[in-house]
Amino acid sequence: MFKKLKSEELVTIAEEYGTPVYVYHAEKISFQYRKLQQAFSGHPTRLFYACKALTNINVLRYIKNLGASLDCVSINEVKIGLMAGFSPEQILFTPNCVGFEEILEAVGLRVHINIDNISTLERFGNQFGDTCPVCIRINPHIDAGGNYKISTGHIDSKFGISIHQIRHIERIVKTTGLHVQGLHMHTGSEIKDINVFLQSLEILFSIAGHFTELKFLDLGSGFKVPYKKTDFETDVIGLGNRLTEAMAGFEKEYGKPLEIWFEPGKYLVSEAGSLIVKVNVVKQTTATVFVGVNSGFNHLIRPMFYDAYHEITNISNPSGPERIYTVVGNICETDTFAWDRVLNEVREDDYLLFHNAGAYGFEMSSNFNSRFRPAEVMVEAGKARLIRKRETIDELLGRQITCDFHSIDT
Ligand SMILES: *Cc1c(COP(=O)(O)O)cnc(C)c1O
Repeated sequence: MFKKLKSEELVTIAEEYGTPVYVYHAEKISFQYRKLQQAFSGHPTRLFYACKALTNINVLRYIKNLGASLDCVSINEVKIGLMAGFSPEQILFTPNCVGFEEILEAVGLRVHINIDNISTLERFGNQFGDTCPVCIRINPHIDAGGNYKISTGHIDSKFGISIHQIRHIERIVKTTGLHVQGLHMHTGSEIKDINVFLQSLEILFSIAGHFTELKFLDLGSGFKVPYKKTDFETDVIGLGNRLTEAMAGFEKEYGKPLEIWFEPGKYLVSEAGSLIVKVNVVKQTTATVFVGVNSGFNHLIRPMFYDAYHEITNISNPSGPERIYTVVGNICETDTFAWDRVLNEVREDDYLLFHNAGAYGFEMSSNFNSRFRPAEVMVEAGKARLIRKRETIDELLGRQITCDFHSIDT
């Protein structure tokens, strides 16, 4: 079991490292990992951490030590994974619409490759048919429910090769001699209904017979975590039970055992992370009380990009009287974190904490408004350590080249 970090501990971190700062709680990551391991213990399952959620190398190394493998969506993520100590065999490269040269690099690095386009599959088959096994990403055209922006299996989605193109895939596999080791699906994020996973699995079963060399079926991810008190998380235990049953039936038919692979991102790191910001101003207008903090969508874009709800706590005044606020950033652009939020009375210089900020938080941050991205701190066994320094003005200018332009009208 892990103990949540206390407000006082978090205030101490904010004071020591400054704000805004992302804080990751290592024990929560391992707690989540163990839950998944437990849930899928009924069938041989491998968990590939989808590192696009959070790529700090310390987080990667920590998750590697838990026993996980790694899912990467760019060649740079693959390289960072290798640097973190994952072996090529532990890395799955699942790119989308990348240039073929990136795939060639992945072949050179000997990682597993997931292909999600017919033309790429054909080119890959012609070049490596006999030498390099692949996984194929299928688009099952399943509606994962929820936000369209984070749904990837629907008819208009750019991801995967359509299930209706199965004949075309077969032709390529046959003519190029490709060794297809895995079939993959990833239908979206925040999937509440475990039947979506089971339906995907059924669809993979229905086409598995076309491939004789399969070693695994990869169901991607989409495990939901609770963002609000009234929210719930995907029932991974229930899913594990149903999956074990379904696989047992399928393997009899297919004639040999297959592993199940999953690629959890958010489930492992979302709740483990928080963003601590400082209140610059409390601004009373005719209509509301704004709390203006020293951050914005340059540091945490999910509320603005996905309309995501992030719980907020005033860790400086946890027992102050409750009042209603609108929390906004300091960016010159509309960057509202939350409307009409009940918070313990907020004063200037208080620290506010955004919960569930571990996934797609720091990772989607930018230098908009020429502001520095946050520092990152990881806490393990009660000890906080800096894992990314705050940026400096020199770093903002570091890659720029000063040339002599004369602004002369001609
Ligand atoms: C983003 C992504 C994941 C992780 O999704 P989460 O919702 O963060 O768990 C897994 N697999 C692929 C291919 C992805 O693109």
